[in-house]
Amino acid sequence: MKKKIVIVGGGIIGCVSAIYLNRYGHDVSIIEKSENLGGVLTDQKFNQDIFLKGTQYLDVNVEWFRVLKELVPDLNIFDYSYGSYTNLNSFNFNSEDFAIPVFNFDLEKENIQNNHYQYKSLADRINQYPEDIKSQLIKFFSNSEIDLNKISSACVGNLGISRVALIKNENLKKLKSENKIIDDLYAIKRNEIYNHNLQYALPKNGFTEFFLRLRKKLEKENIKVFTNSRIFPEWKNGNLEIALNNKKINNDCIFWSGNPTHLIQKFLDSKLDSFVFRTLQVNANIENLKIKERFIQVYSKSSKIFRINLYNLNNIPKIGVECFFHKEDSKNILNEALGILKKFKLELKYSETTINKNLINRFDIFTISDKQTIEQFLQKTKNSNLLFSPWTSYGRTEKIEKILDNFKKLNLIN
Ligand SMILES: Cc1cc2nc3c(=O)[nH]c(=O)nc-3n(C[C@H](O)[C@H](O)[C@H](O)COP(=O)(O)OP(=O)(O)OC[C@H]3O[C@@H](n4cnc5c(N)ncnc54)[C@H](O)[C@@H]3O)c2cc1C
Repeated sequence: MKKKIVIVGGGIIGCVSAIYLNRYGHDVSIIEKSENLGGVLTDQKFNQDIFLKGTQYLDVNVEWFRVLKELVPDLNIFDYSYGSYTNLNSFNFNSEDFAIPVFNFDLEKENIQNNHYQYKSLADRINQYPEDIKSQLIKFFSNSEIDLNKISSACVGNLGISRVALIKNENLKKLKSENKIIDDLYAIKRNEIYNHNLQYALPKNGFTEFFLRLRKKLEKENIKVFTNSRIFPEWKNGNLEIALNNKKINNDCIFWSGNPTHLIQKFLDSKLDSFVFRTLQVNANIENLKIKERFIQVYSKSSKIFRINLYNLNNIPKIGVECFFHKEDSKNILNEALGILKKFKLELKYSETTINKNLINRFDIFTISDKQTIEQFLQKTKNSNLLFSPWTSYGRTEKIEKILDNFKKLNLIN
């Protein structure tokens, strides 16, 4: 049966959901508070140059990507040739057990707010946790050959990093014996571990342009898009009521795709223990080499960097480096990154006039104590008109697959 569905938030999850729901004949609107669609997938302009804001590659070999590419074809697909990778299928590991909610507010808040990790290593950091979480983490890492004393304390801070840190014993041993691990850097060529032909994609001219084009296509498919329109949640008898320009929007279902913190706080009338996890991103154009996109995940205790990304936008090769030390000098960060790349036999130079840096809000982190509160909220609103984005998921594909599953359970799609 045709339903009137309102999607609050026009990030990638909201947009992809709208396409699916619309194809099943529903009346779909997207309401976005910012000027443009795209959410965290945006670019940053600096003089004449455009840089990506954070690492924002799209997964390729998934159904939702094909659906998106049908609408806006100009997505550059490339091979992800560097960076360690682990196939998690053989491990009995559920990210919800300890991924984002593993954070203990009191222990972590101060470090993050002071832009500094006090812990000397990952072992040191894990040691601070309550016994139950500590044992989960130790069990998790015991499947790997990772030496917790050698690895940076920042690692568990990122779900992605903790995932890739789980490297199968045999592989790491083999790499060590063949001297393919460079110094104490746990940055390994992906194809040295598995022969996965991993592919990712970026829009040719950046995300801003991509989402402008996507918006036109969505509107052509009769999806209504409202930007510069922030929804303030109002709860009435356990149901969410929304209004735009003081006019109530009638609906059969609301999908709240943006960050749910505010929504939950309003419902429970109390503050949640959550905090924003920020990283520093330093970008520059690369002068001396036309490169294919590459990506390096760094686990070194001696480096502040945790990710180095090489990519092209408008055919200009760029370097993007992410680290946890917010006050760091841009040049130091770039030079350190170039030093690491040199170990991978990539000799690059950056162009000084294009250096730019910005702080990125990666996500709000809910804490262990909040997990219960959120579950209460979910129970109480179970039969309401509300759906929202899976709060424990981090990656796009994971989020999209979960929400499509929920749509199926509600018979909104097949
Ligand atoms: C720096 C960085 C790097 C990342 N790297 C990767 C990666 O490599 N791979 C990966 O899979 N994932 C990555 N992620 C995570 C991934 O980007 C996110 O999971 C996903 O893109 C989030 O999309 P979203 O639509 O859920 O949320 P968002 O992009 O946050 O979109 C939510 C939208 O809702 C809007 N909104 C919120 N509240 C309201 C309101 N009240 N009224 C109206 N509109 C509202 C917001 O303005 C926003 O546009 C990264 C994230 C960051 C920040």
